[in-house]
Amino acid sequence: MTREQQETFRSLIEKRIEETTAEISDSQEDVKPISPDVSIGRLSRMDSMQMQQMALEARRRQQLLLVRLQEALKRLDQGKYGSCLQCGQDIPEERLQYQPDAVLCMDCAR
Ligand SMILES: [Zn+2]
Repeated sequence: MTREQQETFRSLIEKRIEETTAEISDSQEDVKPISPDVSIGRLSRMDSMQMQQMALEARRRQQLLLVRLQEALKRLDQGKYGSCLQCGQDIPEERLQYQPDAVLCMDCAR
């Protein structure tokens, strides 16, 4: 991977980290415990709890993604970014653009 490509991916990853961090802090409200007397418009307490579960699940995914993105940034610093952790082959650029936190090539990910 050329210096130029590395810088391109660095800004891509940093942008994703920023977005993900913002989404996590936005979801703060949604994952608050539901009070027993909650009635949000026509939503029943059951609906509210279901939505809270979904929000929690989404939040977990985002936090995981954030860790993976930070690790990608570390690999970039170490000059290891873009190589498959399993077979050492270069991960195709299109794949990294779509999923900048990818650590495996398509073959190994399968
Ligand atoms: Zn591989």
